[in-house]
Amino acid sequence: MASGDLPKEANGLQLNFCKTLACDNFGMSEAQRYVVQHANPKRPAMVCRECGAFPPLLNNQEVLNELQRLRSYHCTGLPACRNEACEHFGLSIHTHKHLYHAFGYSGDRQRYRCKSCQLTFVDKWSGANNKLTFQENLLALLFTGYSVREICRKLDINPKTFYDHIEHIASRCRRKLAMFDARWVTHADQFELASHYVALQPKSNNGVFWLATGDAKSGYILCQNVNYSANEEPTGESDHNPFTTPARFVPYDYSTEASQPQAPLATDLRERIDQQYQAILARGNVEDPMGNLTYFHYPSKGALIRPPYTSYAHFLHVLSLCPDDKRVTVYLPQDPLLRSAALSVSLPRIKAKTVDLMYVDGKWGTNLPLNKIDIVHMGWWRDRWAIAENNDYAKGICYLAGDRNDPKLWLQTASIESTAFYQSRFQLLFQSFINEPRRKLRPAGLLPVLDIFRAWHNLCYQNKSGVTAAQSLGLTSNPMALRELLS
Ligand SMILES: [Zn+2]
Ligand SMILES: [Zn+2]
Repeated sequence: MASGDLPKEANGLQLNFCKTLACDNFGMSEAQRYVVQHANPKRPAMVCRECGAFPPLLNNQEVLNELQRLRSYHCTGLPACRNEACEHFGLSIHTHKHLYHAFGYSGDRQRYRCKSCQLTFVDKWSGANNKLTFQENLLALLFTGYSVREICRKLDINPKTFYDHIEHIASRCRRKLAMFDARWVTHADQFELASHYVALQPKSNNGVFWLATGDAKSGYILCQNVNYSANEEPTGESDHNPFTTPARFVPYDYSTEASQPQAPLATDLRERIDQQYQAILARGNVEDPMGNLTYFHYPSKGALIRPPYTSYAHFLHVLSLCPDDKRVTVYLPQDPLLRSAALSVSLPRIKAKTVDLMYVDGKWGTNLPLNKIDIVHMGWWRDRWAIAENNDYAKGICYLAGDRNDPKLWLQTASIESTAFYQSRFQLLFQSFINEPRRKLRPAGLLPVLDIFRAWHNLCYQNKSGVTAAQSLGLTSNPMALRELLS
């Protein structure tokens, strides 16, 4: 490897370029535009010769590997071609009907045949659920906030049986969700999305982050991912090396960088934005929130993925769901973990002028006039924030990319609240489950619960007006009962 090269592109994907929109090198991946070094892993590997920014390097192939991992997790239990050598592998019949023939029945379950490789498979969950009442009881207890131990005692089952049921229920939920997701993305005229992320288990310091993106208005969650793989082992070098594969795993001997825990976020908007920029700059890699951890405990099983890889794969997946000719607007919390990924994978859309990306913080009253908007340049990057404040409200917008830089419009409409609410609700509802002492380093048991929660949140949970997220999007006319979710 000659010094000075960027990591190789993979399948046409090259995510290494300057991420400063106003810079001449934005979106450009010719190595001579950058100072690239990988002798010292503690120093920036790539510095933009134009603007001095130092976007962390990525292994493009590993982003694709992560995308493959996320997609195969999403379709666990979904009816899809199971032949890894086939081009239809993992593409479910719900989203790719044209790839399969209906091919009779197996008992009461629908059978399909792949048009490419002729492999047949059954839709496991198309038949009746003979555990319906039992699983309905189990879910009701889970949603009431009981711990696994208590649920097992009440239903007289052992933990293994409990988790088997949870897996089955999650599979049925994924199947139901796939149908509604497909209905949405094929019929929507445009997408107004809100992304957000949190530590999955805030008290565990286990490095597992949970990213979610949903419809900003209705709160319908389209996609969620976690940077943790239950069935893999971390391999590769200790320091991140984007020039070798694998590069995406956090090593067992990862050590924390932060000397003091993050202070609680300020209530004053400008102070909070400034504070967040300081937290970001304190990270060894500005795109990796693990750099803010003061304590770290590796999950006792499985592999942790470096968060940027999951974030890039998350946005690659989300944007692949939105048809190219439909406009996509994404509201983000102020964090390069999401910003860099959303911006980089949107490059074709930025050129085609079919995307808006922005940071959003704070709240503005409905129909409240915007008499005065301050423009403030903040943080090391001198990001341009538009801020509106009065006695009761304060809201800031930092328009990151797109051709509609209209602060007034966005101060009135942009919001990440629906997705942030979804995540905080999960953590509130399942806090005893999340914080069980033996669960702290075993996040795997939470993953199927995330799918169940997404299904419940999108299809069953009714807002103050008695309407579900799926109803607001016009995907269905009625709320779904828990029982229906399971059948
Ligand atoms: Zn630059
Ligand atoms: Zn096939």
